[in-house]
Amino acid sequence: MFETTINTDALHGAPKSAGLPGRKTIYAPAGQAGEYAPLATNPYRGCGHGCAYCYVPSVLRMDRREFDAGATPRPNFLDALLKDARAYMAAGSREQVMLSFTTDPYHPGDTSTTRQTLEILRAHGLGFCTLTKGGTRALRDVDLFRPDRDAFASTLTSLDADFSRKWERGAALPADRLAALREFHGRGVFTWVSLEPTLDVESSLQILQETHTFVDLFKIGRVNYLPMTKTTDWRDYTLRMVDLCQRLGVRGVEHADRRDRERDTTKDREHRLDALEDLVRLLDRLRERSHDKAFAKDLVLHRRQRFALSHADLRAFIIGDAEA
Ligand code: SF4
Repeated sequence: MFETTINTDALHGAPKSAGLPGRKTIYAPAGQAGEYAPLATNPYRGCGHGCAYCYVPSVLRMDRREFDAGATPRPNFLDALLKDARAYMAAGSREQVMLSFTTDPYHPGDTSTTRQTLEILRAHGLGFCTLTKGGTRALRDVDLFRPDRDAFASTLTSLDADFSRKWERGAALPADRLAALREFHGRGVFTWVSLEPTLDVESSLQILQETHTFVDLFKIGRVNYLPMTKTTDWRDYTLRMVDLCQRLGVRGVEHADRRDRERDTTKDREHRLDALEDLVRLLDRLRERSHDKAFAKDLVLHRRQRFALSHADLRAFIIGDAEA
């Protein structure tokens, strides 16, 4: 089953955040990151995986060489985490906290802070999810993952070791990441894969095909800020992903990338027409393959928000059909 994430802020006002005001160590991620997890925390500064496409150094305004030199625990991180965890517990929160958006919890260095972080979150009634390219390094903490509360996730851009060595030179090789996913899945822990960034369309389709038996959910993204993806047909990619997810009975969630969102805020007429055409094609395909009207409606709402479509646009092109 292919799902779209729907940010209904623009339609109904901002939803209640899972974050507590003034808490910065356990925080509610903003924007697209919020589609990944209600809460997050970042125990380290830097990351030794050295992914060529990583945009974290520019977001943090950090020198890339320093960032790539390796992860170091943030100063006073565990003390601050403990304070925030107590506050969330006092507020009755039982949300899942993701590690991490600005580093990797299983980077190549000392990850004992990750273990301590997971222990603190557990002790205060919170769930957690680790998103990593560290592969089987994560197994050092497998005993802490609770099947009913926690999740293990890995980013995969390719199954090819040489491709990975070129683009993610310090990360675990794809086969090792698959081994970790299999192990967590075998222990009953919810697993998901981030196909973001998609550097190569065929590779992402292959990953889905070869891992879906031990991956519970695929998060499907795009990248369009790298020269190698400038000519990628993202519309065709989305349609192929929808088809493959439906054929394999796989759960997939589509994300827009950061550039899409920046672009989506524009009122560019050409782009809006392109978006409408995209909607029509997607819904035509959907009608061919499914009678799931609730899904069709969700898809429409998502696309409307994403491409800043007006009610009039939708009424003219889509909503009548989707609700019929
Ligand atoms: S693993 Fe994530 S944080 Fe680390 S370098 Fe790669 S993209 Fe950046």
